[in-house]
Amino acid sequence: MNQHQVVIVPGDGIGPEVTEAVRRILEATHAPIAWVECRAGLGALEYGQDVLPQETLDTIRKHGVAVKGPCTTPIGEGFVSINVSLRKSLDLYAAVRPIRNLEGVPTRFSGVDLVIIRENTEGLYSGIEAEITSGVVTSTKVTTEGACTRIARWASRYARQRRRTKVTVFHKANIMKLTDGMFIRCARAVHDGEFPEIDYQEMIIYAGGMALVRDPTRFDVLLLQNLYGDVLSDLCAGLVGGLGVVPGANIGDSAAIFEAVHGSAPDIAWRDVNNPLALLMWAKILLNHLAETREDPACAAAAQRIKDGYNRALAEGRKTRDLSGSLGTRRFSDAVIDRLSS
Ligand code: NAD
Repeated sequence: MNQHQVVIVPGDGIGPEVTEAVRRILEATHAPIAWVECRAGLGALEYGQDVLPQETLDTIRKHGVAVKGPCTTPIGEGFVSINVSLRKSLDLYAAVRPIRNLEGVPTRFSGVDLVIIRENTEGLYSGIEAEITSGVVTSTKVTTEGACTRIARWASRYARQRRRTKVTVFHKANIMKLTDGMFIRCARAVHDGEFPEIDYQEMIIYAGGMALVRDPTRFDVLLLQNLYGDVLSDLCAGLVGGLGVVPGANIGDSAAIFEAVHGSAPDIAWRDVNNPLALLMWAKILLNHLAETREDPACAAAAQRIKDGYNRALAEGRKTRDLSGSLGTRRFSDAVIDRLSS
């Protein structure tokens, strides 16, 4: 069988536990994947390497696909976020977060099925901050026509390929007339010129945020700049059961990194209580990505087995504590493995 080489970065905090759980489950599906392990984050520092070693970047460039556990970033001081550096270095300009209800995970709303697509390389996450004078600091929101246009095109193409019908852009162009103004101008131009069959809508972000928490089922594809997309990813995760159940991918033209939306959760690391489901869901997305890009039906079959496995486990109430269940990480993984379809 053809093995696909996929880079795996365990990350920090609960990262090594969730990546190990996912590896075990993938092995049980006989997915045709050969893991290439690399370091990043505090784990790399402990080995005397940079937080984001050049070797890790080169290996991801070489293989084109990586799965990554969450990495810790010090707050308000210390090194630059590894996630931001990875996205910029590899030009992973599209962050994709599917937000869906899961059977067996009851929440306030049912029928939620939306996808957040976030511009991942610029905006307020450009990391350009300065102290102008004592007590005065600035952060520069970089917005370029090229990046706005390519993410708008990526989002509309994604919608078209998956037969989704509406793209909604959240913005604050009433206040940030130049930056957010450019974002919606580019999105509108791409829509009108190339994707007229898709419904297109613009909403000021506060009104959009309120509409989301009142009725998320009215949204389909959401297109956002970097900071807004980051904030709303967690908000939307809360609509379908929390950070433990939302996968994500950071995709560029020559590489893709799959990860969970949640962070390294140091408060629960090494206690066998974390939920590996979000990372498992990305494993399914990764396999589908390989099935599409490398035309390998074995990957599609393994993806389906994983999905059946976790859906059955959840439907039978086999859940971790964050979803009001009683299982630890390992026993939940065992429950999924026991329920993989043949
Ligand atoms: P977090 O997502 O790590 O944790 C928020 C809360 O959710 C915590 O109470 C945690 O216990 C819970 N939680 C998270 N994942 C869970 C899981 N799989 N199962 C059960 N409960 C889970 O967010 P945070 O505390 O703000 O961030 C911690 C660190 O992670 C920070 O250093 C941050 O920079 C980093 N981070 C990394 C990524 C990434 O690598 N992609 C993303 C977000 C945050």
